[in-house]
Amino acid sequence: RAFNFNAGPAALPLEVLQQAQEQFVDYHGAGMSIMEMSHRGALYEQVNNEAQSLLRELFNIPNNYKVLLLQGGASTQFASIPMNFLRPGTTGAYVATGSWAEKAYKEAKLFGETAIVASSEADKFNRIPDVSSLVLPENAAYLHVTSNETIEGTQYQSYPDSGNVPLIADMSSDILCRPVDVSKFGMIYAGAQKNLGPSGVTIVILREDLAQDSPKTIPTMLRYDTHAKNDSLYNTPPSFSVYMVSLVLKWLKEKGGVAAMEQYNRDKTNLIYNAIDNSGGFYRGFAQPESRSIMNLTFRLQSEELEKLFAKESEAEGFVGLKGHRSVGGLRASTYNAVPLESCQALVQFMAEFQKRHG
Ligand code: PLP
Repeated sequence: RAFNFNAGPAALPLEVLQQAQEQFVDYHGAGMSIMEMSHRGALYEQVNNEAQSLLRELFNIPNNYKVLLLQGGASTQFASIPMNFLRPGTTGAYVATGSWAEKAYKEAKLFGETAIVASSEADKFNRIPDVSSLVLPENAAYLHVTSNETIEGTQYQSYPDSGNVPLIADMSSDILCRPVDVSKFGMIYAGAQKNLGPSGVTIVILREDLAQDSPKTIPTMLRYDTHAKNDSLYNTPPSFSVYMVSLVLKWLKEKGGVAAMEQYNRDKTNLIYNAIDNSGGFYRGFAQPESRSIMNLTFRLQSEELEKLFAKESEAEGFVGLKGHRSVGGLRASTYNAVPLESCQALVQFMAEFQKRHG
């Protein structure tokens, strides 16, 4: 297997892939694959229920929240959020932390009033801005944060307190990487293709009072109440992706759950951050230390040529996905839940050897 540091779609646990392979052609003796079955049948219903209940259990989701399994990726949520929650005279408040927060904000601007209440743009988004005492617009409909900026490699260490205003978080690139107090949020959403499974399904965790009364003027498929009322089976679901998510969640439970996973993620990322910090300036972390992500580790070398060489030589040695995002350059190692410690150890060794050769 490759040392897969892709930012997304990302590495899946080998055990999960093998289990899916075993069940691929014949799911539980049904004589057909899960993706050939009716989504209204008992076997798929079980998968749909299991994905939801495991997520509830592992992420400690309170009973007054709905778990929705949707399509369209997190990008569709960027539009669904303002469509469902903005009303004339209200404002969608956003914290500008980087590339994904900006995309969410731009989409909301298409639908109504918006405001940026904190930003780290002046620092090229190399940190999460101070959100300890945010002033929200009086008529704020919600406060939107991007929990982990996949491209810049920054992550909230603590979330803002938005009072009575629903806090909405894009956790696409860090859901289930650490325990979170879900009750502090009105809504959490995440595309599956980093920590949850393959692309194709998007998880929305929504407080019940927000899952009612979407405006009548928005399309049926984009209304949260449509999916809440129909247990995410309003239309044909992305059944194979949901099935894979249920396997990944079972795997996570076997690994000891989210708290154990956080420790594992910290062990992995400490190795790499230490390698950066102890390189005598050869490697330079992009994110400010107090905002460093335990999912996407961004770093630079002295020149773009050297960065290109790093990407090329690492590929030749079996590493995948270490080139930074095209919009910011540099290098990036994505260490999602399924990335094994061994891959991180191999990377640290490669970094030391590369420095010896070119330092
Ligand atoms: N938000 C974050 C933080 C992401 O990292 C991504 C994808 O990489 C997205 C949103 C967009 O997700 P999707 O491709 O599922 O629309």
